[in-house]
Amino acid sequence: MNKHTIIALSVAAAEAATPLDAKEAASHFTIRELTRSSTATRLGIDNTPPPVAIENMHRLINEVLEPARIQFGAPIYVNSGYRCQALNKAVGGVARSYHLQGRAADLNTGSTEGNRRLFEILRTLPHRELIWERGGIWIHVAL
Ligand SMILES: [Zn+2]
Repeated sequence: MNKHTIIALSVAAAEAATPLDAKEAASHFTIRELTRSSTATRLGIDNTPPPVAIENMHRLINEVLEPARIQFGAPIYVNSGYRCQALNKAVGGVARSYHLQGRAADLNTGSTEGNRRLFEILRTLPHRELIWERGGIWIHVAL
């Protein structure tokens, strides 16, 4: 993504200021980022989160993701956050996955070394699940 694209996206985001786009105070993460899914888009699944899941995602952002991002000091990508039942089934998620409640996120920094460092940071933050997935391709964390 080049600089112009980033500026264009920032303007678009500012113009379409809905609650889903609103960032937490001084946060790097949005509810929309934790909700979007290319699989849902492809399959026509409506992955709109219910209020309770939005509340859980706010907690996940404030207590885990943002503190981790600050310590990590570089971008952290969310591969998957909230999943409705249909989406969870489509991606082969386990039946009682915390993703269904908006309590979990699958994270990736772009390198195994970065993921290793992020994993060590997440160990020191609140969590109920912390999993090094598929040899470190991504990290699953749930609050
Ligand atoms: Zn996960």
